[in-house]
Amino acid sequence: MKLRMAVLSHLVNLRDIPDLQGIEIGADSVSLGAMVTQHELIAHAGLGEAVPLLREAALQIADSQVRYLGTLGGNVANGDPDNDMPGLMQCLDATYQVTGPDDLRQIQARDFYESAYFTARADDEILTRLMVPIPAAGTGYAYEKQKRKIGDYASAAAAVLVGKGFASIAMTNLADVPVWSAEAGVALAAGDREGAVSAALAAIDPQEDMRGPVEFKRHVAGVVPRRAIDRALSRVAG
Ligand SMILES: Cc1cc2nc3c(=O)[nH]c(=O)nc-3n(C[C@H](O)[C@H](O)[C@H](O)COP(=O)(O)OP(=O)(O)OC[C@H]3O[C@@H](n4cnc5c(N)ncnc54)[C@H](O)[C@@H]3O)c2cc1C
Repeated sequence: MKLRMAVLSHLVNLRDIPDLQGIEIGADSVSLGAMVTQHELIAHAGLGEAVPLLREAALQIADSQVRYLGTLGGNVANGDPDNDMPGLMQCLDATYQVTGPDDLRQIQARDFYESAYFTARADDEILTRLMVPIPAAGTGYAYEKQKRKIGDYASAAAAVLVGKGFASIAMTNLADVPVWSAEAGVALAAGDREGAVSAALAAIDPQEDMRGPVEFKRHVAGVVPRRAIDRALSRVAG
């Protein structure tokens, strides 16, 4: 609304709906209410242990003023390609629960984004919860974000998980949707770092924006996944 991308006759505040709140840590997955704030993601001790990648990425969003108010649902639901959480959720293989007037349905984060600001959510549905699988113990992780200044959106970012025989890589702000590359994950799981980077770069389609021309974005796109992969590999344990 502030950017005048929408002019609305009604505004509904979701903040006091209890079902949209809360962080629940189960045996295999965590359930996150759509109205959980980025600050809550960072401050929750159990979540930082269960899915440390989530905390690492949330800490790189904007500044503490934004993180106290910004919600998980608001970050992932509107399909803004600049936002950090959509690519992160694709890396983590999260599932979104959306609820409409008659029913609720589950949509994989990897199937949710269609183009900038267009998603698989229908107009009469809201995002209610996100389910995030807990990575196996010892999984290496990293969120690497290049930005022009503290508090800015990503010029480009990469989320990486890597464990025994498994890897997942997603990139942010390098296309009009987040970019998750199955081929990149397969290559990294096989120990082929450069193959993983090549596969990830083959999947991007950067556009010029206020963060730089296409050539610069392609350059940054080559840097962030290598850094993320190296840091994630350095954290693999066991
Ligand atoms: C100065 C500034 C810097 C920022 N920097 C970053 C950054 O570096 N990285 C980053 O990832 N983000 C960044 N953001 C975005 C921020 O993190 C929030 O995601 C964003 O402001 C949305 O805030 P909100 O959660 O209050 O959602 P709202 O503003 O309330 O909603 C955003 C949109 O999503 C829709 N929506 C909200 N919740 C739901 C739901 N449950 N179901 C369906 N639709 C829903 C709304 O209708 C609206 O269209 C920045 C924001 C600001 C103002």
